[in-house]
Amino acid sequence: QEGVHTVLQVGSMPPELATRLHREFTVLQLPSVGVERFLEENGSRVTIAVTTGLTGVSGQLMRALPNLDAVISFGVGFETIDICAAEQLGVVVSNTPDVLTDCVADLAVGLLIDCLRGISAADRFVRQGNWINGPYPLGTRVSGKRIGIVGLGRIGLATARRLEAFGPTIAYHSRNRLVEVAYPWYESLIDLASDSDVLIVAVSGGTSTTGLVSREVIAALGSDGYLINVARGTVVDENALVDALAQKQIAGAGLDVYTHEPRVPEALLALDNVVALPHLGSATTETRLDMANLFLMNLRQFIAEGTLTTPVS
Ligand code: NDP
Repeated sequence: QEGVHTVLQVGSMPPELATRLHREFTVLQLPSVGVERFLEENGSRVTIAVTTGLTGVSGQLMRALPNLDAVISFGVGFETIDICAAEQLGVVVSNTPDVLTDCVADLAVGLLIDCLRGISAADRFVRQGNWINGPYPLGTRVSGKRIGIVGLGRIGLATARRLEAFGPTIAYHSRNRLVEVAYPWYESLIDLASDSDVLIVAVSGGTSTTGLVSREVIAALGSDGYLINVARGTVVDENALVDALAQKQIAGAGLDVYTHEPRVPEALLALDNVVALPHLGSATTETRLDMANLFLMNLRQFIAEGTLTTPVS
C-alpha cells in the first residue's frame, strides 16, 4: 500500500530521521532552487508532505500539490503550517505534542535558576580567572518568587508543576481561563507582568502571539524582573527586550528562542545578565527519538488507515 504514496520532504530533517524516512518510504526532497519546475514535474505525485515545526508548509505549496492529503510535522509548534489552507483543501495535519513537554519544561526551570543565581555568568567569571580578585556578586533567591506563566498549556503547566518545589506563587495569562487549574488567571498580560518576579513565556507561536510580550509588558516586569522564553522568538518584542536589558529596566533574561534564528542580536550577547541557548528545548537524545517515533507513527497510520495518531485540532 506504501507504493501509492509519495512523500515530499519540505526543509531539512534530523539526519537519523531522514535516513529512516528514506529507508521506509518513497521520498522526494523539495529543492531550494527550481521549485516551480520541480512542482510541475512531481507535484501531482505527492500525497503526503513531511516537515518540521520550524520549516512548515505554506498554503501556496499545498495548492501546488493537487493530491496532497496530509502534512506530517516533526515538532509541536505548527505556526509555520497554513492550517486555514489545509482545512480548505481537506488536508489533515499532525504534530508531535506531549513527548517533548518534560524536556522543554526542564529547560525553562534551568534557565530560571541560571538567570537568578548567575550560573553561566559565574562559570565565565571562574574560567576568566576573576575569582582571584574577589567574590562573585550576589544573586537573587529562587525560592518564594512570584512566577507568571504566559500560556499555561502542556509546557507551561509542566513548568509550573516543577516550580511548585520552590514554594512560589504562580499565576498565568492565556486567552482562556482553565477551570481545572487553581492558579490565578490574568486576562491582562501587563497586569501579570507587574505582579511577577519572573515571566515565563510558553505560548504557541504564530500571528496571534507575535509581539505579545511587548515593550509595555517588559516595562511592567520592572527592574527586578526576569524574562524566560522557551516558546518562540516572535512572541517577544526583541528590540524592546534588548533595550530593557541594556538600560537595566529588567534584571535579566533566559532565552532559548529568537526572532531570526540562528541569528542572535549582538547586543544580547554583550550582556552578562542574558543566558542565551541555541533552541535546545526538546534537544535530548531520548526526546528527539520519541518525537521521531511519533512522527513515523503518524505517517504509518495515515498510510495504513487514513487517520493520524496526533492530529492538530
Ligand atoms: P499548548 O497548545 O499545549 O499550549 C499553548 C498555550 O498558549 C495555551 O495555554 C494557550 O491557551 C496559549 N495561547 C495560545 N495563543 C495565545 C494567545 N494569543 N494569547 C495568550 N495565550 C495563548 O502547546 P505546548 O505547551 O505543547 O507548546 C507551546 C509552545 O512551545 C509551542 O507552540 C512551541 O512554539 C513552543 N516549543 C518550544 C520548544 C523549544 O525548543 N524551545 C520545543 C517545543 C515547543 P489559550 O488557547 O487559552 O490562549
